[in-house]
Amino acid sequence: MWESIRGLLVDRDGVLTCSPGNVPLPGVLPWMKELQHHKTPFLIASNHTLSSPDEAVHDLNRVGFDVKLNQILTPLCVLMEYFKRRNPGNVFVIGTDLLKNYLKDNGIQLTQAYGAQTVLMGFCRDLTYQEMSDALTAVHINKADFIALHQNRLFMDRSGKLELGLGAWVKAIEYATGVQSLIVGKPNPFYYEIALNRIGLRADEAVMISDDPFGDLWGAKQIGIRTVFLTSGKYPDSMVLNQLTVDQKPDLVMSSIKDVPTLLV
Ligand SMILES: [Mg+2]
Repeated sequence: MWESIRGLLVDRDGVLTCSPGNVPLPGVLPWMKELQHHKTPFLIASNHTLSSPDEAVHDLNRVGFDVKLNQILTPLCVLMEYFKRRNPGNVFVIGTDLLKNYLKDNGIQLTQAYGAQTVLMGFCRDLTYQEMSDALTAVHINKADFIALHQNRLFMDRSGKLELGLGAWVKAIEYATGVQSLIVGKPNPFYYEIALNRIGLRADEAVMISDDPFGDLWGAKQIGIRTVFLTSGKYPDSMVLNQLTVDQKPDLVMSSIKDVPTLLV
């Protein structure tokens, strides 16, 4: 497979770092240095939404990754690209203050649920039943567009325990309203189109490497990107792939990104 690959799209949590403490996984820093030494095109394609793209770069720099702002893509970057193409009007946000401030700084008008043309959901531990009901009303009664930053099923918290991902809340609103959300993060093909554009490669020249075969890899595969599933993250047992059909399964399974070749054609 590797002979036709020219660049890498690389997930962050569970691939480069582990969530509790943002610690680089074993062997990953030297692997990344080698990748950069060979000038192999790569983009960190993350669904991380709890920090701004600038902060995400700062967090990676702080633990030893020498990466720049144009080498990381998050749903917030993709969301702004989407809003450039389609004006969201007044937006009701369920999410962190960071998300709300990021939107305001980028000229997006925020509002309460009543009168919203768009409902945007990001991950937020302080989410309330009232906010969920407000979002339901805006989408179901007022026909607001329903957008979510991603639909990750679950993640590991700082103590290593599993927590419900944003996807669980998004599915609750979808179930109640019968309205399908637009997901701006992985696995939306639009996310991958922006990602490929950033590294200047066609889908068949890139590979997506991730520890999430549901939230990440299946979407990449659908637009012709080859996929590698790593067991270094949230699913240490590759038996999880049995939940996928044959055409959804990743092309390769590896235990760590440090086994991925750093010098490509
Ligand atoms: Mg991950």
